[in-house]
Amino acid sequence: MNDIRVDIDPALLTHHVERLGELGELPGGGMARLQYDSSWAEAQDLVATWMREAGLRVRRDAVGNVFGRLPGTDDSRTILTGSHIDTVPEGGKYDGALGVLAGLAALRALAARDERPQISLEVVSLCEEESSRFQANFFGSRAMLGLVGQEEPRTLKDADGVTMAEAMVAVGLDPAAVATAKRDDVAAFVELHIEQGKVLESAGVDVGVVEVITGLIWEQVVVTGRQDHAGGTPMDDRLDAVQAAAEITAEITRHVAGADGAGRVTFGRWDVRPGWPSIVPGEVVLSMDLRHTDPADLRKRATEAREIAAAVAARRGVEVTFERLKDETPTRMDPWLRQALADAAAVCGATSMGLPSGAGHDSQLMGEHVPAAMLFVPSVEGRSHCKEEFTRPEDCVRGATVLATALHRLAY
Ligand SMILES: [Zn+2]
Repeated sequence: MNDIRVDIDPALLTHHVERLGELGELPGGGMARLQYDSSWAEAQDLVATWMREAGLRVRRDAVGNVFGRLPGTDDSRTILTGSHIDTVPEGGKYDGALGVLAGLAALRALAARDERPQISLEVVSLCEEESSRFQANFFGSRAMLGLVGQEEPRTLKDADGVTMAEAMVAVGLDPAAVATAKRDDVAAFVELHIEQGKVLESAGVDVGVVEVITGLIWEQVVVTGRQDHAGGTPMDDRLDAVQAAAEITAEITRHVAGADGAGRVTFGRWDVRPGWPSIVPGEVVLSMDLRHTDPADLRKRATEAREIAAAVAARRGVEVTFERLKDETPTRMDPWLRQALADAAAVCGATSMGLPSGAGHDSQLMGEHVPAAMLFVPSVEGRSHCKEEFTRPEDCVRGATVLATALHRLAY
């Protein structure tokens, strides 16, 4: 059994995290490094430079994913590690970036060894995962899997009306070439990521090995009542859309919370119409984000949510409709890769535990097509997608060491 521990350069990893975190940093703290903006372009150039310095062969594909390759004796198959370089608006500097930099640190350490891997190793800085500028979710991994439509860059627009195709041209990419980003040599994908929750911190465990990435359903819910005068209409003669929506969302929330502890439901966006103090609201358009790690339970909760809404609407005399905007089934991580991560943790003297991921990740999509696994490192107080997002340097280093050790077990 291969019980070699591969140590990474701790000071360099910490420096890379800090330096990359300056690109897209906002004046009040937090990050906005959005797909194909200037800080994004600077970040990908910097990562490419670091990859070259690490002795890796660097390549950029048609959508702007940047790869650093350590060729194996069998150069036909690739074990890929890495994560995404983009952030949400007002995000932190660890989400995505740490997976890229830990992968870089791991491959740098492996490249410095005398032996060559049997299977090629590659670290990727994926161009996009967060839908932060365009509604392009998982754009980098989708392009690698050949799942980007030829017309997509021309049809997607950012908040300023700039098409993705225009944004690509601005950073030197050819939107007509997206199909060339597809690759068929990826044998496995291993992604390090911050946990974005408190499970590891609460348990006092060093690293987490993800068992399943949650499934997700997005619905647009429209509650239609009757628009009336706020003074002239008695309380018992109203079809108030906000009151109905409030009751619907409260009942669904109670139901999901009480069901099995594994479901999550969030009504994060409300658009009240006409939205005026002296008008009884006639319509509310709201979002429902529903998640569960079990596919059957996810479907069941979605059906129950519709039934609860219909019952409240009938009682209140309003109408409610649901439109499904997203439907992603839960993805189980590969058992063999999970075992390699857990074994590597043990070799490194790190404690580990299995856990589900409540957030979506590139590994979710990759895992539907190739064996994939994720290694989580602790997030302080579970905070993420905010400027308080923080993972201690020693936890970053420990995670990268476990990753490097696992890649050695898998590829050598
Ligand atoms: Zn992420």
